[in-house]
Amino acid sequence: MRFDVITLFPELFAPFLTCGVTRRAYESGLVDVRLWNPRDFADGRYRRVDDRPFGGGPGMVMLAEPLTLCLESIRADRAALGAPDAPTVLFSPVGEVLNHAGVERWSGSSCGAVLICGRYEGLDQRFIETHVDLQVSLGDFVLSGGEIAAMALLDAVARLQPGVLNDEASHQMDSFNPALDGLLDCPHYTRPEAWRGQAVPPILMSGNHAHIERWRRDQRLALTQRERPELVRAARRAGQLSMGDEAFLADLPKNPEPDA
Ligand code: SAM
Repeated sequence: MRFDVITLFPELFAPFLTCGVTRRAYESGLVDVRLWNPRDFADGRYRRVDDRPFGGGPGMVMLAEPLTLCLESIRADRAALGAPDAPTVLFSPVGEVLNHAGVERWSGSSCGAVLICGRYEGLDQRFIETHVDLQVSLGDFVLSGGEIAAMALLDAVARLQPGVLNDEASHQMDSFNPALDGLLDCPHYTRPEAWRGQAVPPILMSGNHAHIERWRRDQRLALTQRERPELVRAARRAGQLSMGDEAFLADLPKNPEPDA
């Protein structure tokens, strides 16, 4: 699947694409990432890509024209290579917050996407209204550019591709995965058995796999109930909680209600 990334800072992506377990996805072309700089499509001696906002105010705004020429080049390149056209995604605090279901959808997509990384105060609104199909946010905070958001999406998509993680099934054991009924992951422990006066939970040393699995399930339920109770409610609505799960949840101390 192909992702075209429009960014004023393509150099930020080099270490990201060549390090860690997801490197395999990028190097093999399983996730084919192509970087495009709108500055290469800008006019004049200084190849300007931004200007002051009409109406005054702080900061600069990305010009619509270099972005449009860049996007047109991407579309032409995709067509020339027989790649399908793809939706144009803008990273922005305006967008829907990225979550596991969204990542799974991207990860199963055949066409990938054109990802636009904003900078400065953002993009000329006319470009957004003309070309952007979807806006995606990383959360309710402001980054200085969309590059980190693009890397977050690419990383999450790459690790779901077959053959990328060392253990094929390991992503299914991660938080939010439908294989774990959308719950949070359980705590993990490794050597040494005793660390600075703290022991590993004895059940993990018991060798009894059924008991260990039950303990892990209970840990997921307890952690999710405490930190993200809406995920437990969603699992219940989907009929994914067993009688054993419900009995365990019923015995948990109740969370205090938040102050009114
Ligand atoms: N003026 C914008 C606002 O208040 O919503 C913020 C612009 S921000 C400094 C520059 C760029 O960073 C944005 O155009 C967007 O591409 C990216 N960005 C900032 N926060 C983001 C977030 N929470 N999620 C995704 N992208 C974000």
